[in-house]
Amino acid sequence: MMGDAKRADSGSSDSGDDAVVGNVNKHLVYPPGYTGKPKKGHLIFDACFESGNLGRVDYITEHEYDLFVRPDTCNPRFRVWFYFTVENVKADQRVIFNVVNFSKTKSLYREGMSPVVKSTSRPKWQRIPSKTVYYYRCPDHRKNYVMSFAFCFDRADENEVYYFAYSYPYTYTRLQVHLDRIEKKQLNFFKRELLTLTVQQRRLDLLTITSPENFCEDEKRKVVFVTGRVHPGESPASHIVQGFIDFLISNHPIARVLRDNIVFKVVPMLNPDGVYLGNYRCSLMGFDLNRHWQDPSPWAHPTLHATKQYLMNLHSNPWLDIDFYVDIHAHSTLSNCFMYGNIYDDEDRFQRQAVFPRLMCNNAEDFSFANTAFNRDVVKAGTGRRFLGGILDESSYCYTLEVSFYNYFNGLSANPIPYTEETYTRIGRNLAKTFADYYKLSPQMVPKPTAAGAQFKEKEKTSLSKRKSNRVSATSSSSSNGNGNSRSSALSPVPKPKSRDYRF
Ligand SMILES: [Zn+2]
Repeated sequence: MMGDAKRADSGSSDSGDDAVVGNVNKHLVYPPGYTGKPKKGHLIFDACFESGNLGRVDYITEHEYDLFVRPDTCNPRFRVWFYFTVENVKADQRVIFNVVNFSKTKSLYREGMSPVVKSTSRPKWQRIPSKTVYYYRCPDHRKNYVMSFAFCFDRADENEVYYFAYSYPYTYTRLQVHLDRIEKKQLNFFKRELLTLTVQQRRLDLLTITSPENFCEDEKRKVVFVTGRVHPGESPASHIVQGFIDFLISNHPIARVLRDNIVFKVVPMLNPDGVYLGNYRCSLMGFDLNRHWQDPSPWAHPTLHATKQYLMNLHSNPWLDIDFYVDIHAHSTLSNCFMYGNIYDDEDRFQRQAVFPRLMCNNAEDFSFANTAFNRDVVKAGTGRRFLGGILDESSYCYTLEVSFYNYFNGLSANPIPYTEETYTRIGRNLAKTFADYYKLSPQMVPKPTAAGAQFKEKEKTSLSKRKSNRVSATSSSSSNGNGNSRSSALSPVPKPKSRDYRF
């Protein structure tokens, strides 16, 4: 992770992506030919911190900079996640940042997605308004898709540092701090174990949440196994996992009845090195771990290898039934929260796969059954969902839970609602509550959906068999958007900033 402390190399838009190695390190960007001392307004870019990603900055004018995403370590094909800081700004300095080397073309940026920002005096992440963000094919960059956004550095105080990211970050350290805090409470229904260490010696945590009597092997127990963050740039997955864990260890009556009846196993972060390094898709060694479930290697994919081995041991334990496996991801082209499931030749088993997503619909206004799809693509054979679907008992259910990097339609308002950290966390709670519905635990405790919500959900329920295809119906069409609302509404800006807010 060596940084480039040299002066900006300006003007050359032609050096390929291979030129981008390592993150910028307190990188001071001067105008070309400038020889004097650095001044306020000569921006300093930095990404040498946890989950940071910014590979290169080109000065275009005082008001415009080209930014290059640093490719995933050992895998130049993936360039999506970015997370960097800017400081040494001039008061009211207006800039345009162009992110010029994304590896994906289809993106929610087309629908109005925008990066998130925070600053020293405003530590809560928020989305930059859609109206200041442009996504277009740029002739200056080999016709690559470029995402440009305008921003005003409104405060020039010495300590004001501005942070920009692709989505709400959630670092490895944040997870460790959170788990440490829970551990200190010494809850008798929460156990934290080390499954293995990563290549860079980080922890692969395994959590068990269940009432203490369920730890003994005297009768059959049901197991729900949840994993997240195999793809390190999909930070919303961590917010969901945290919501799931926090709900399950809470005093909520549904949480208690869930703990009494089910053994929850959670691997919150399957790819800690990738998260730490600021990768989008891969591990330190450049592997997409979600394509290696069939034959993970203990040295090349140690976290996956350990998780799979642990799952296989559970599977062979006569006292335990793995009923559910849910792997949590974030989606870069679709709206809402939804699931992918498997297709089985046994029609009855296949039909039963739809039950849980339908129940989730009743609990979560942002969950879309319309986007939920079932497939058996060859390309997905190495995913956790597909692999485990092939070996677990026929009474088990394996899903990928996806959430949009951007927004959801709730069927009540015409405009989509951009996700926040809070609404991502809420998905985790709703996921947990849905297990109570599935197992019919204290159904009287579960809040009923509103009349309008129920009506809307009814509309969504189309025949499952229609969706039984070899292609993922939702991803094959760029115009599908969760609930069939019109696309144009996705372009409306986020709510107006408050008085202490940025001047966008
Ligand atoms: Zn993913």
